[in-house]
Amino acid sequence: MALEKTLGGPVNLTDPLTADPPKPHPKCGVCAALYEQWRHAAAPSSTAYDPSKASDIAVEMKRHHDNSGAVKVQS
Ligand SMILES: [Zn+2]
Repeated sequence: MALEKTLGGPVNLTDPLTADPPKPHPKCGVCAALYEQWRHAAAPSSTAYDPSKASDIAVEMKRHHDNSGAVKVQS
């Protein structure tokens, strides 16, 4: 039956704020620390769950490296 097909599997919706998990740069302590914060902020089961904060952290993780992936030195 067509109805059974349309009701088939579960639909997993992705949160637009957290659909693209940040990728911590290997050997970068800043990334590691930010990623740990992101994990808590992005996990609905976490007491620190805050999608807006998770998005901010993801942006911060991307921004503190330049396009080559090198760590930006803050002057
Ligand atoms: Zn980093």
